[in-house]
Amino acid sequence: MKALLIVDVQNDFCPGGTLAVPGGDKVVPVINSLMDSFPLVIASKDWHPKDTVHFKKWPPHCVQNTPGADFHPKLNASKIKKIFLKGSPTALLYADLIPLAIFTLVLALLATHSFQKRLT
Ligand SMILES: [Zn+2]
Repeated sequence: MKALLIVDVQNDFCPGGTLAVPGGDKVVPVINSLMDSFPLVIASKDWHPKDTVHFKKWPPHCVQNTPGADFHPKLNASKIKKIFLKGSPTALLYADLIPLAIFTLVLALLATHSFQKRLT
C-alpha cells in the first residue's frame, strides 16, 4: 500500500511556535491537497515530556498535551488514520509500518533541519 506520512506538522514548528520553521505553515494546503491521492494517510507528532534532555539541545517544543504539540489548525486531521507519537529520534520504526502493509511511503514535512539530524 502507498501511504502519505505527514511528519510533525505541529504548531510549534509553524510561525508563532517555539521552534518555528519560517513559512512552515505554507506546506499545510499542499499536504491537504495531496491527501486524496493516497489510500492511507498517517502522521507523526513530535511529543515530548515537559522535562527531557532533548531540550538541552533545542528550545522546549511539542510538549505533550499542549497547544504547541497540536497539528496546525488548518491541517485536515480528520483524514489521518493513525498518529505516531515520538519522543525520540528512533520512535518511528519500520515495525510500526509493517502491520499497516505500507510499502511505499511519501513524506510530507516542514522541519527538515531537525529531521535530517534525526536520520543520521
Ligand atoms: Zn523535538
